[in-house]
Amino acid sequence: MSEKVVTRFAPSPTGFMHVGGVRTALYAYLWAKKNKGTFILRIEDTDKEREVLGSVEHIMECLDWLGIKEDEGPSADGPNGPYIQSERLEIYKKYAQILIDKGLAYPDPYTEDEVNEFREQTELAGKPFLYREHRLEKFEEWHGAVPLRFKVPEIKSYHWHDVVWGDLSAGPEALDDFILIKSDGYPTYNFAHIVDDIEMGITHVMRGQEFISSTPKFLAIYEALEIEPPAFVTLPPIMAPDGKKKLGKRDGAKDVLDYKRDGYLPETMINYLAMLGFNPGGEKEIFERDELIEIFDLNKIHRAGAKWDDEKLDWMNKEHIKMLSTLELEENIFKYLPEDLWNPKIVPLITERISKFGDVKEMFERGELDYFYKTPEYAKAKLIYKDTAVDRISQNLSQSLDALSKLDEKDFTKENIKNSLMQIADKLKNRGELLHPIRFALSGLDKSPDPFIIAEILGKNETLARLQKAI
Ligand code: GLU
Repeated sequence: MSEKVVTRFAPSPTGFMHVGGVRTALYAYLWAKKNKGTFILRIEDTDKEREVLGSVEHIMECLDWLGIKEDEGPSADGPNGPYIQSERLEIYKKYAQILIDKGLAYPDPYTEDEVNEFREQTELAGKPFLYREHRLEKFEEWHGAVPLRFKVPEIKSYHWHDVVWGDLSAGPEALDDFILIKSDGYPTYNFAHIVDDIEMGITHVMRGQEFISSTPKFLAIYEALEIEPPAFVTLPPIMAPDGKKKLGKRDGAKDVLDYKRDGYLPETMINYLAMLGFNPGGEKEIFERDELIEIFDLNKIHRAGAKWDDEKLDWMNKEHIKMLSTLELEENIFKYLPEDLWNPKIVPLITERISKFGDVKEMFERGELDYFYKTPEYAKAKLIYKDTAVDRISQNLSQSLDALSKLDEKDFTKENIKNSLMQIADKLKNRGELLHPIRFALSGLDKSPDPFIIAEILGKNETLARLQKAI
């Protein structure tokens, strides 16, 4: 490819970012990075009625969390700015003027009510409404108070190529005299995004399927302006877990920042989202950012919708957690714990039992970490040991207490603890009558992590005190 690759992510600030939006951004980013090109973030805020306050900040926070960093955008100035459409109105007017001068744009002579009436009439007659059938022969001059419409120059079928979908076409009914600039002075999406894609030198447009049906309109504008359109890369939909419909809020489509709050790693999210609609081939599924950039290939984006799968996401997150350093694990885990539990020794015990860091908070709230800082209660003992001779258990615990009290405090490590306890256990008919009670005495839980590690973490004094209390 000789020309420099320029991609863009062009969200409208109309609500929270969902996973589909982020995947679009990710693909545009990966393709730009792979080709040493430019990735632009552009905010498409020309529909003032649908705008939701705070969306722009939200979009930026999502991208920032995931490390999908734009080369140019509202907070990374560059030669193609401004990057917010509402600040580019003069540019759209300039392009509108080009179309007016060519006789390809005209002021809407009808009121909204009149247009609605045309629509109702045609629909009553069972036909699709086309504004162009009401176009007048002669146009007035446009002064901006009414919508400016595109005059579709030629009513014809369009054929075009989509990088993912191959050859596509649409008949003349897809063409209409759509609005370029509204009476409030803002351009429509249909017009503004084309002007911007041209001005910003976009080479590849990644976006969702919902734009395929409007593509003939876009192509008609490119033709009218005598400019080659960019490559269209239409991404497959993300499907609900049942695979039957698009992923919607009701099937668990969440705000991307919910995944941040739940303690998923950004590395997991980009790995997971990249694979959702793209298949590099081969068995490997875990990729780091640089590897994703390396393997990403437009020709391997598939057409079939990809199913959202929370279990897979959790599995992937566990795999990425395994790749973290001790320090990173501590940082992530301690975020969810009160300060008196910030003991590096508990980190491995927690790590093996979580799939996302938010689980740490839940473990804590369910009391599963209480034994690290609270002496356990043994009320459940009767239930757990109902078939075992209680005096044998307390005898075993007493022997353990004796053995452990002989260990020096500085030698109170899990290896030494294990050695001295196993010496006793090996002499018993049933080792379980010592090992389980030790676990229970130290944690107050029927199932807990390795009791020798717990003893080391608790230290000699606390371990002995708990054994004594349990006895
Ligand atoms: N502003 C459009 C949206 O958020 C972008 C579509 C496009 O990428 O062209 O859906």
